[in-house]
Amino acid sequence: MPCNAIDIFHIQSMGTLDGPGVRTVIFLKGCPLKCAYCHNPESWQSSSCERLSEEALLQMIGRLRAYYGKEGGVTFSGGEPLLQADRLIPIVKKLKQLQIHVAIDTSGDILTPNAKAVLELVDLVILDVKHTDSQAYEGLTGGKLSRPFETLDYLKDKKIPYWIRQVVVPEFNDSHEQLEKLELHTRSALRERIELLGFHKGGMHKWNVKSPFEKVEEMPMDKLVKLQSYVNLLFKTD
Ligand code: SF4
Repeated sequence: MPCNAIDIFHIQSMGTLDGPGVRTVIFLKGCPLKCAYCHNPESWQSSSCERLSEEALLQMIGRLRAYYGKEGGVTFSGGEPLLQADRLIPIVKKLKQLQIHVAIDTSGDILTPNAKAVLELVDLVILDVKHTDSQAYEGLTGGKLSRPFETLDYLKDKKIPYWIRQVVVPEFNDSHEQLEKLELHTRSALRERIELLGFHKGGMHKWNVKSPFEKVEEMPMDKLVKLQSYVNLLFKTD
């Protein structure tokens, strides 16, 4: 019987940005979206990816587990990890049997029965809502805004804890009005935080063609801190 394996393009052994605590972040190949600011366009091509067997993955996680502490664990990111939901199901089941905290970082664009099964298995979903205006979302990603909101409804229905994430781009989605919409439309008792990430051009050199955001300024850190404080305030008063 062939062994289970996932297609990946990068592993971060001990990350601290994608979920609580110290985590092993596994970036899976493939994405149905084409975000204009994507830092990982190499994940779109199969040539830059490698296949990792379930056994090798579990062995690696076993070696790193001591560093996770009480809060940390494993995050599956991408690309879009739910494109490989069928292969993730047995892996996440095993991690949960080992009592390892599992998070998934998703654009919310995939809501197949297998994707739903993965969402129900994990401890935390980090849902990227890239804009709250349909036209702007479509222009940025090539996808439909209704998709992440369908995923959000599913999380609420199944009582799955979630974080909301947004990359904030100057003059695109950085207004207070836009952030208020993001807060309002993603609100529920299951939401643990809204996390803003500043747009930067770190991955632009990987684009084969010019990124549509090539001429956009990076988000200044002091402005990002202020916007995050504003969102935190909205969060506290909801
Ligand atoms: S969802 Fe993420 S990986 Fe996919 S295109 Fe957008 S930024 Fe890139």
